[in-house]
Amino acid sequence: MIPGARLVMLGRQGAGKGTQCIRLSHHYVVPHISTGDILRAAVREQTEFGLKAKAFMQEGNLLPDDVILGIINERLERDDTRTRGFILDGFPRTVGQATTLMEITAPRCIDLVVDLVVPTEVVLARLAGRRVCTDCGANYSVERPPKFGWVCDSCRGDVVQRADDTTEAIERRLAIYERETAPLTAWFTERDLLATVDGLGDPDEVSARLFSVIDQRREQHR
Ligand code: AMP
Repeated sequence: MIPGARLVMLGRQGAGKGTQCIRLSHHYVVPHISTGDILRAAVREQTEFGLKAKAFMQEGNLLPDDVILGIINERLERDDTRTRGFILDGFPRTVGQATTLMEITAPRCIDLVVDLVVPTEVVLARLAGRRVCTDCGANYSVERPPKFGWVCDSCRGDVVQRADDTTEAIERRLAIYERETAPLTAWFTERDLLATVDGLGDPDEVSARLFSVIDQRREQHR
């Protein structure tokens, strides 16, 4: 049986994190924990918290660290992540979040943080054409739509454009990424946890690159 893994995926919006995290989650048989997906589910359910989160998300702003940390703490306490591990997608996004993550996971440190790198012009084109399943979060695009209408191939959910994939929100999200999240690559490098992976090309090729760096790291840790 394939051993679990404790992974973090960094990368700008549109780098392909969602697509690759779903593949990694199947390959290593670990839960894919996307803070964006968790928040979008709360928005859909129109909980009190969801309504508050919606305002931050539509503008392209980050939610306060304490709110996100509450969500992550609760999720990482469940049995599945304790036994097999996890893939964190969209978290951490600030040095404060990363510091707390290291504290929470101190008993068994994360294996690897991957920075999935794609040039800005490619990211902008991908975000403009991106479409996502409102139920399972699967990614599609205007070039690669679902097989039938705008209905998800895997769960039959509606496939739509994200409310925060507008020009203004995209610009703000990318600027916040550069300011708050990009410094995490140096931060994790200092802790000898970072691997940089080229996110350009066919999704199968990108997955192969990811499996290779992750397996290499796990060999070293054995
Ligand atoms: P994503 O799907 O990862 O791009 O996240 C969508 C939106 O959810 C972000 O633009 C933020 O508003 C919010 N969000 C997701 N993860 C975080 C996080 N770790 N910290 C703060 N806000 C977050």
